[in-house]
Amino acid sequence: MPIDELPIDELPSNELPRDDLPANELSAERLTSALFGRPACVACDSRAGPLCGSCRTLLRPPPSLPPVAGLATCHALFDYAGPGRAAITALKYRNQRALLGELAAVLARLAPPAVDHVVWAPTSARRRRQRGFDQAELLARRVARLIDRPIGPRLTRRGGPQTGRSRSERLTAGDGNVGVGNRRRRSPGGAVLLIDDVVTTGATLQRCATALAEVGFGPVHGRVLAATAPIRRPSGPARR
Ligand SMILES: [Zn+2]
Repeated sequence: MPIDELPIDELPSNELPRDDLPANELSAERLTSALFGRPACVACDSRAGPLCGSCRTLLRPPPSLPPVAGLATCHALFDYAGPGRAAITALKYRNQRALLGELAAVLARLAPPAVDHVVWAPTSARRRRQRGFDQAELLARRVARLIDRPIGPRLTRRGGPQTGRSRSERLTAGDGNVGVGNRRRRSPGGAVLLIDDVVTTGATLQRCATALAEVGFGPVHGRVLAATAPIRRPSGPARR
């Protein structure tokens, strides 16, 4: 179901978004919600948040994704632009839990039925420390609850964040390696739903799928909130 068709009445009202901030920290969303009964829209600041009806209509479908090695299927909900980008930014940097719950519900509806475990593509340890949370983990835990499946093997990422790297840098960089953290338990294997917030080159999802396959899990299905525009040629000029 596209996100702009989600019934807005399902959104929590008259309660603070459960954004897990310390009680003495007042986020913009928490303040707006306390004053007006709804969180502010993450894209336009109207009082019909977490993402208002007007901004939902401006969400664009995701660009077609290139096949990602190791993934049986991979789908994104929307394009990483405009309100879609604002939504991701709100999740990443403002810990916007009302929006998180709604987006997790859409991802859960897109989950293939034959899934045994839910796993997230981990952010770097440094980013996690900076933000105090991993938005992909929060999404995956909500999805796991909604589809009633256990969290699968914990993936860990070493090295720096991928933001700002070109495709060729991402694919060849020695950092950003993904491994399975809890190897000691004997792997039961099984199909995995791999959750992430944004797919750019697919390099991170590919590393996750490889790490999962190495300990006996598969097939791996990727479900991502946003996808960026089609991949630039590796030989072309790097724009960012
Ligand atoms: Zn809006």
